[in-house]
Amino acid sequence: MRVELVSHTHDPERTVAAAIRLCYSASDIGEIRDGIDDAEAARLIGKVLKLGHLSVLEHASFTFAIEGISRACSHQLVRHRMASFSQQSQRYVKMRTCEFVIPPAVASKAGARELVDAAYDHLQTAYNELLEAGVTAEDARYILPNAAETKIIMTANARSLLNFFELRLCTRAQWEIRQLAEMMLDKVRLICPIIFAAAGPTCETSGYCREGDMSCGKAEAVRFPGDKEAH
Ligand SMILES: Cc1cc2nc3c(=O)[nH]c(=O)nc-3n(C[C@H](O)[C@H](O)[C@H](O)COP(=O)(O)OP(=O)(O)OC[C@H]3O[C@@H](n4cnc5c(N)ncnc54)[C@H](O)[C@@H]3O)c2cc1C
Repeated sequence: MRVELVSHTHDPERTVAAAIRLCYSASDIGEIRDGIDDAEAARLIGKVLKLGHLSVLEHASFTFAIEGISRACSHQLVRHRMASFSQQSQRYVKMRTCEFVIPPAVASKAGARELVDAAYDHLQTAYNELLEAGVTAEDARYILPNAAETKIIMTANARSLLNFFELRLCTRAQWEIRQLAEMMLDKVRLICPIIFAAAGPTCETSGYCREGDMSCGKAEAVRFPGDKEAH
């Protein structure tokens, strides 16, 4: 898996801080921006993070180039509707030498690796033969597995990313999207250390868990009617 932060809003934390200050100030926008140093930006951003007034975070936007994830992972990723995506097409790009993501638990299980390698070999051969027989790529792709690698460009604002990190850094999220979320967080934290200081699952940021019966037990789960007894 490869993740690159290809671009982001210029000076994102000062941009967000200026937006916060603007809401409460009679001054001109230029004056507001000039009057914000790092300490003031940290104070303003810290305040909205605590209050949950997060719309101001939408002024900071980040674009990632993501390669070498499976279609299983990209399907989970594109469920995040507040982000924008452009994905390599299996309709227009012929997958004659497809790479496949092997889950670590499969790679380390005796005999399992050989089983999936043989299955992928067989599928790749069949896919190529379908193309040779004149079947279009858009129809031949129906036999490609969830493991098929894909490339995707993702753009999301800081508010949407905080939501993404909360959900996908949880141990309940699958290993691959969790790994992706970790790599993305490492990159945005370098650019926006204040905004993303407390990014992560609620067990780490707020001391509670919303996963109920499915909680890993790291923090106390919020109980809902119908949940089993707390463990
Ligand atoms: C551990 C885990 C297990 C999951 N299991 C399943 C599963 O079994 N089946 C399944 O289908 N999905 C599953 N999902 C996906 C999940 O339901 C969400 O679709 C996905 O995490 C995107 O989250 P989101 O809607 O908060 O993000 P976004 O779509 O980016 O939305 C961000 C926020 O905007 C608001 N919002 C967005 N759209 C609307 C809207 N239409 N109306 C009102 N508010 C809106 C909400 O506050 C939302 O939290 C799972 C996710 C996780 C993390």
